[in-house]
Amino acid sequence: MKAVVFKEVGQPLVLEERPEPEIRADELLVRVKAVGVCGSDLHASEASWTPTDIVMGHEFSGEVAALGDQVTGWSVGDRAVPLAKLVCGECPSCRRENYSDCENSDLIGFSSNVDGAYAEYARVSAATALRLPDGVGYMDAAVVEPLAVGYSTVRKAELKMSDSVLIIGAGPIGLCVAQWCKHFGVTDIAVSELNASRLSLAEEMGANILIDGNDVDDPAAEFERIAGRAPSVIVEAVGVPGMIQRCIEIASNNARIVVVGVCFGYDRFQPMLCFEKRLQLIFAAGYRVEDFAEILKLMDQGRIVAKPLVSHRISLEELPEMFETMRKPTDQIKVIVEL
Ligand SMILES: [Zn+2]
Ligand SMILES: [Zn+2]
Repeated sequence: MKAVVFKEVGQPLVLEERPEPEIRADELLVRVKAVGVCGSDLHASEASWTPTDIVMGHEFSGEVAALGDQVTGWSVGDRAVPLAKLVCGECPSCRRENYSDCENSDLIGFSSNVDGAYAEYARVSAATALRLPDGVGYMDAAVVEPLAVGYSTVRKAELKMSDSVLIIGAGPIGLCVAQWCKHFGVTDIAVSELNASRLSLAEEMGANILIDGNDVDDPAAEFERIAGRAPSVIVEAVGVPGMIQRCIEIASNNARIVVVGVCFGYDRFQPMLCFEKRLQLIFAAGYRVEDFAEILKLMDQGRIVAKPLVSHRISLEELPEMFETMRKPTDQIKVIVEL
């Protein structure tokens, strides 16, 4: 099969022939139809700990092409979206069907044990795959994963309608968080961003306060100037060193800071400031199978949308070049590879 392979740090991805993955008894073989390019893939491709010679791609959907011997409830041809995690099915968490806490899991697309979906086929755990509703296409389904990350952000923040939310960074995750805030009835939703086209998309996704990071040094102060109150929640959706400290500095007393931007390197911040301001510092991670199910239902009903987030649709052949282009962000939001 065709696959786009990460060779090593500093090398562009390479399109090559790979053998089709072999599935275990509790797995599905999925013919990949759509896969999103994630900022984490770009970060990982620059990190020395990333295994070499792997296939990335963890935001995907496709058609079931084969079933493991023990799989029930699935048929060849079913349309599926999997969680980006291969689970063992045997540990105490898996036995409780709490698959997100599987103790022996492998992250699809970041592990040398299981290749990801920048390829024609991928293996997934049947237990954590969901069937697509009729109204949800493959491209939309490939955006369920970032939407689930956004959902886990507001869940971890214990978001209330009365909250006032400042989102730093309008990448796909920041934009998904904005959409969830609107969905849950928050009235003051601000997005701070450097890129003008991303900022206007933030408005479409639900932000009512747009802050141009080029002109504004303290987005929390700007938020307060416009909304008449300070943000009770600050979402860090950038993921570069120094951002957490910046959020701590601009936060008001008792604010919750939710970190969802994934910084792969070491970072520094000043805990004393958090004590002084009685801040909560929360790391948003860990979506669940039931989150995917809810999101698919909301998409089917048209109450949560994926399409505006998709800025580019490309072929697998075009992926290596696009991946290099994305190292310096221009106008891409979510790039979807369609097969
Ligand atoms: Zn991702
Ligand atoms: Zn397990």
